[in-house]
Amino acid sequence: MMKKPAYPRSKKALAMKPFLAMDVLERAQELERQGRTIIHLEVGEPDFPTPEPVKAAAMTALGEDKTHYTHSMGLLELRQAVSDHYARQYGVSVSPDRILITSGTSPALLLTCAALLNPGDRVLLTNPGYACYANFISFCDGIPDLVNVYEDNGFQYEIQALQSRINPATKGILINSPANPTGTLLAAERMQQIAELGIPVISDEIYHGLVYEGQAHSILEYTDQAFVLNGFSKLYAMTGWRLGYLIAPKPYIRTLQTIQQNFFIAASHFGQEAAIIALTSPAVQRTVKDMKDIYNQRRQYMLQRVQDMGLTVKTEPTGAFYVFANARKFCDNSYEFAFEILEKAGVGVTPGIDFGSNGEGFIRFTYANSLENIRKGMDRLEKFLHTRRDS
Ligand code: PMP
Repeated sequence: MMKKPAYPRSKKALAMKPFLAMDVLERAQELERQGRTIIHLEVGEPDFPTPEPVKAAAMTALGEDKTHYTHSMGLLELRQAVSDHYARQYGVSVSPDRILITSGTSPALLLTCAALLNPGDRVLLTNPGYACYANFISFCDGIPDLVNVYEDNGFQYEIQALQSRINPATKGILINSPANPTGTLLAAERMQQIAELGIPVISDEIYHGLVYEGQAHSILEYTDQAFVLNGFSKLYAMTGWRLGYLIAPKPYIRTLQTIQQNFFIAASHFGQEAAIIALTSPAVQRTVKDMKDIYNQRRQYMLQRVQDMGLTVKTEPTGAFYVFANARKFCDNSYEFAFEILEKAGVGVTPGIDFGSNGEGFIRFTYANSLENIRKGMDRLEKFLHTRRDS
């Protein structure tokens, strides 16, 4: 007879895959404890501090004891600021009663999946794509329906491929533009075509604002039958604040609010006060513009260096802070290759396989690190590839 496990766990918890970027980071930290210096190009978070006026607003809010539960939908003033932001940026009208403030984009996705999916329901998503998406869907009893996308056309959905995958169980199409891990943008026409498929679109707009060429569009420019996920983590360098929001069709709001009340109650009160300043202060917008200009310099530098050493990038990344490079010339197992780069060159990178089977053979580099560190990282990697080729 099989022995019962001493600490039984749920099937859902056991089915969840670890995030390999974190495995690389943890091993890198171990090497650092042993005295090695590691250049971190694996972590997807801004290296800048949160802009001063945002921090000051949080401190003022703390001084005023804004430290309690807020309305479960979030502060009306913040929801109004989000509404104004979408009107300004995209010319769309979203009333604050369609906006729910969450503790990050991740909870916004959890609420969306929890509200939409019954067992066996399917959500279409790209392969490669952000590693956590499939886990959210599976955890909410849905089926992640992966659609392969390719570097030749900027890792974008082919409309025919999407169409052929739609069936009565399809409850959503996930899009992410600019995308993690590829840094590429969805063209306006493609978004229009996706909106016209008649399936609710779940649009992760977390990297909006970090666009260096071309323009990011909100799905709300094309349809109201959409769930928009967005937050303060990336553009405002606020990953640790845990603040985001969800824009949904009106009929879903009460359901989403009910789930939010039960699971999260509300987002942090003083954090929300500070987020109003993030969206409305002209000084913050100037800081954001400076950060963006610096990201852009690093992007151009990294792109050049990566390609000079023989990795290839077919479609130039024009958003977010990632370069997703084809490394098939050097490896067919990106996981082993990433660890080899870490151990031998002292550079942390994320293996493409982290983002799906169709990301195998690729390596993701983050340019959310100083130009000086990127230069060092690129020098180390170049030397390592040279030695490896010659040995
Ligand atoms: N979506 C994408 C595509 C991301 O890259 C990330 C962060 N790595 C998130 C969502 C999560 O963002 P948040 O910090 O707002 O939960």
